[in-house]
Amino acid sequence: MYCTYCGRELHEGAEFCGYCGKRLAAESDKARGIYSHEFLRLRAPKEIKNPKGAAALGFFFSWIFLGPVGYIYLGQWNWFWLTFIIQIFAYPLTAFFAYPLLPIVYGIHQYQMARDVNELISVPPKEENADAASGGSGFLDRP
Ligand SMILES: [Zn+2]
Repeated sequence: MYCTYCGRELHEGAEFCGYCGKRLAAESDKARGIYSHEFLRLRAPKEIKNPKGAAALGFFFSWIFLGPVGYIYLGQWNWFWLTFIIQIFAYPLTAFFAYPLLPIVYGIHQYQMARDVNELISVPPKEENADAASGGSGFLDRP
């Protein structure tokens, strides 16, 4: 595994990074709360997701009843189907009161989820790469 902050290689299951000293959240930490349920579990994406892009997808597509597409971008098909089914009922049951609210809900949730799924990738996010490159060769040395 690699440090999610400085990108240096660490032994599997390390709790702290021996190089930058930051505490590393175990994968089980990320899976707590609502995501601990098997059906709602977050899948690690193949590449870093853009939180603002995810929020924009959820916000804008929700106006045409397709707010869940942001979850497809995030690679979380379980969340796509869950929210898609829920909103089919939410619109009529709330007399379309949900219509102006869901863009905000999808936007905020998909923004937050993008950050959550990015933490599941064992590669440091872009902002951190600059630090690692200037502070040492940790990130660049990686195969
Ligand atoms: Zn580190």
